[in-house]
Amino acid sequence: METENKTTEYEPLNFIEQIIEEHNRTNRFNKKVHTRFPPEPNGYLHIGHAKSICLNFGLAEKYNGLTNLRFDDTNPETEDVEYVNAIEEDVKWLGFDWQDRKFFASDYFEQLYQYAVQLIRLGKAYVDDQTAEEISNTRGTPTIAGKESPYRNRSIEENLALFEAMKRGEVEEGAKVLRAKIDMASPNMHMRDPVIYRIKKTPHHRTGTKWCIYPMYDFAHCLSDAIEGITHSICTLEFEVHRPLYDWILDQLGTHHPQQIEFARLNLTYTVMSKRKLKILVEQGYVNGWDDPRMPTISGLRRRGYTPEAIRNFAQKIGVSRRDTIVDIALLEFSVREHLNKICPRVMAVLNPLKVIITNYPENQTENLITENNPEDETAGNRTIPFSREIWIERDDFMENPPKGYFRLTPKGMVRLKSAYIIQCEEVIKDREGNIIELHCRYFENSKSGNDTSGLKVKGTIHWVSVAHALPIEVRLYDRLFEVEEPEGHEGKEFTEFINPNSLQILPKCFAEPSLAKAKVGDKFQFQRLGYFCVDKDSTPEKLVFNRTITLKDTWAKEQKKNN
Ligand code: ATP
Ligand code: MG
Repeated sequence: METENKTTEYEPLNFIEQIIEEHNRTNRFNKKVHTRFPPEPNGYLHIGHAKSICLNFGLAEKYNGLTNLRFDDTNPETEDVEYVNAIEEDVKWLGFDWQDRKFFASDYFEQLYQYAVQLIRLGKAYVDDQTAEEISNTRGTPTIAGKESPYRNRSIEENLALFEAMKRGEVEEGAKVLRAKIDMASPNMHMRDPVIYRIKKTPHHRTGTKWCIYPMYDFAHCLSDAIEGITHSICTLEFEVHRPLYDWILDQLGTHHPQQIEFARLNLTYTVMSKRKLKILVEQGYVNGWDDPRMPTISGLRRRGYTPEAIRNFAQKIGVSRRDTIVDIALLEFSVREHLNKICPRVMAVLNPLKVIITNYPENQTENLITENNPEDETAGNRTIPFSREIWIERDDFMENPPKGYFRLTPKGMVRLKSAYIIQCEEVIKDREGNIIELHCRYFENSKSGNDTSGLKVKGTIHWVSVAHALPIEVRLYDRLFEVEEPEGHEGKEFTEFINPNSLQILPKCFAEPSLAKAKVGDKFQFQRLGYFCVDKDSTPEKLVFNRTITLKDTWAKEQKKNN
């Protein structure tokens, strides 16, 4: 049908794609697209970085281009190889491949130095002897011009000699810097003779003590982009005001000139996203490390049980824009549920166990009952689960005085055990304090799931685990790390004051069906009616530890209808 072609799915271009297509049309970069992801190795990556990764690698994929991984390691004081390794692992895990293009800004230190020398030769940079404080005090304000440094008009020869002395380590830290000579009256503060090199006598994690002068971000970044032949240098909005400086440096030096394009950074409700703040959470012990499952870090989300597919899908859904917004974390959770629902085998586990004895079921008898692995996936097949006289059920699946509409087990009430029999509660056994310790029930032999001839009608289905076969497990439940949607930006309050004291709940005595004994770290399951769970790295051969990735929504109601 001819008309159908015109209405096939059409994804409108986002504003960055529009820019790229315009460049392709005018042949600005010979129709090439070469992006980069440029993390500073001073912390672990978070979900905001994931957006940037998906964007940079995604654009290259779409336009048959390339993406470099570049470590922006120009500050030896905060950077570490631990972070480099973690970042690589996270980018790979997200599903992206930089092939042989892993670069470090520190690899360009010699070239960057030569570029700085060239700027001096052009009369476009000078060594300033003013202190950091003096420089800052003479910078002016957006409406008042700054004051030129008394050292601004040094001769080129003097500047070259001084810069060389700085490089050789003959100048004390803080005594001199190299500044670009632009315009102290520029309305853009970044153009008021920005510092481009400073002395730091700190060993660098890659170059050791070879260098004691380090380029500033604005100088190193544009030139690293130029050196690598980047076409589209995509960054977050706060760099928009740096763009004139990006362009100025490359124009002076006459290098390849990428296009810087800014987009709005990702903010999420109920969390903080800056590495500095995440570091505070780690270092002050609010969480147990960068990969704590409550952290918005990629490693935390991975340990929590999130999948790369879910994160990529989320990035796709939120898109890119130039307006700062806060995305509802529920949107991320939706993507996670959507994917886990497709891939997770269904199993039964009881988190808060109550013992049920089926008094009319033969002692020492075990039946292997058949149940489906994933109703969402026909290829997932079936498995067997052992059933016997004593089973664990969830404590809140029994109520002595149930409210109206409670369809689970009650005194004299009936309920279906998932993929097994209908049982009826006959006796509630309590201890001296009146706590329920056990239920005595009977089962209806002819009510077996799949072959039910009992004619009994029950409204509720509950999950269970055979006591004799149960696998003891530990389960960790997580809630939001912060109690408020926006933990940042409250006058006079630290973001840490909004931490949710109940964000982690450990349940050491849970039981799972025996098929889980084979589960390995990272394996993911739906515990029926309870949510999605994955095996944590804290598991031992004696005991598996499960993280609850996320709760279920209302899918159980639908399931029940199907199964009865
Ligand atoms: P943070 O403020 O969390 O420390 P950063 O920008 O200092 O982040 P970098 O390592 O410099 O961290 O960032 C690497 C890349 O990731 C940059 O291109 C940056 O713009 C991008 N990025 C960082 N945070 C976000 C975010 N929240 N949303 C989208 N992109 C981000
Ligand atoms: Mg940064």
